[in-house]
Amino acid sequence: MRILVVEDEKKTASFIRKALQAESFAVDVCHNGDDALAAASTTPFDVVVLDIMLPGRDGLSVLRQLRTRKVSTPVLLLSARGEVNERVEGLNAGADDYLPKPFELTELVARVRALTRRGGENKSTLLRVADLTLDTLTHKAQRGGATIELTAREYRLLEFLMGSADRPCGRMMILEKVWDYDFDPGTNLVDVYIRRLREKIDANFQPKLLQTIRGSGYMLKEAP
Ligand code: CA
Repeated sequence: MRILVVEDEKKTASFIRKALQAESFAVDVCHNGDDALAAASTTPFDVVVLDIMLPGRDGLSVLRQLRTRKVSTPVLLLSARGEVNERVEGLNAGADDYLPKPFELTELVARVRALTRRGGENKSTLLRVADLTLDTLTHKAQRGGATIELTAREYRLLEFLMGSADRPCGRMMILEKVWDYDFDPGTNLVDVYIRRLREKIDANFQPKLLQTIRGSGYMLKEAP
């Protein structure tokens, strides 16, 4: 985990760096906005701790530039003035959290840690159709809070249908995407698996999500 600390007050920067290093984070420090922008644009940090009041380019400007450049690193803003306006402005500019000065170092470390976790969560994709969810990282499916056990093939089928939610999926398309077939094996393979999946995701729940499109295929859809 690599953290960028942007703070012009050298003593404060040093305290923050030591507190984070004590928690096993790797820490880089910048003392002005231009250096911070250059560093955060080129190095993949896990979190940026960004003071608003900086000489030259201020923290909000750094933040806006980063978001304009599609850098989505979580940002924790620090401000000497706990003004509501500044806080709202910061969050609107794309900050993930905000900590007014003075703060306890333990509080700052806890906030940074929370942001590193959030970054990790963002890497998994949670597909959702109504109250059915599928985590593409853990392959965990849930509906109405109940865990649904899936075989590997059922998982691929559900992932494909959820990724194509509200769009009709023909049998041939399903064979291609889920079984890697580029020919029609002339079996009712797809229908058999759809029946098994329906048993797991729809049988005990309302509304029914897996719709049959007569003659052509299937569609996962929130509203009937
Ligand atoms: Ca400052």
